[in-house]
Amino acid sequence: MAKCSKCGIRLNGIPKKRVVELSKLSKSMKKISRIFSGTLCHRCVAEIIKANVRREAAI
Ligand SMILES: [Zn+2]
Repeated sequence: MAKCSKCGIRLNGIPKKRVVELSKLSKSMKKISRIFSGTLCHRCVAEIIKANVRREAAI
């Protein structure tokens, strides 16, 4: 099962299937259209984006 690598919450939008079955699906079925999809949850992604924006604004 796909989990967030930062907080460990279960990721939505990624089907719970075996690797053989996943290989038959199209790319868009396996991932959601977001940066870090399949790796981080929406909250962690938002945190990273906000941190980047703040850092760039401070310069
Ligand atoms: Zn997370």
